[in-house]
Amino acid sequence: MSNKEFCYYFQVMTDCLFCKIIAGKVPSKKVYEDDRSFAFEDIKPQAPTHVLIIPKKHIVGLKEAEDADAELLGYCQLVAAKIARARGIESGYRTVYNVGPGAGQSVFHLHLHLLGGRGLGWPPG
Ligand code: 5GP
Ligand code: ZN
Repeated sequence: MSNKEFCYYFQVMTDCLFCKIIAGKVPSKKVYEDDRSFAFEDIKPQAPTHVLIIPKKHIVGLKEAEDADAELLGYCQLVAAKIARARGIESGYRTVYNVGPGAGQSVFHLHLHLLGGRGLGWPPG
């Protein structure tokens, strides 16, 4: 990695809200953590369960993810499934990536929404 690239990534990660949450520099209600992932309660929940599952690696969003991230993305889905099982919401829940501002992505560190604990309409808005 060139010095310029290093400076870019360093700035992105030090400016990133979710990197700060992982580092404990911004408080959050932690739900789960392991070496690759971190899960916490959404600050503005849209359902009785609204948990965000994020990779510890700073990935901007789904469209910026690379082939090398495939296993990590699948892993985050399985973390969501474990949380859903532990919360007893397996009768119906949803895992969602908002991809890009047009779909409502507002934080540019990839995050999987886990929503459940109420009826979920389809199609989503
Ligand atoms: P997006 O809109 O990017 O798909 O989702 C970002 C989510 O992050 C939103 O649901 C929003 O409520 C949540 N969020 C934004 N800032 C914070 C924060 O400081 N703490 C927590 N726990 N959630 C946040
Ligand atoms: Zn980040």
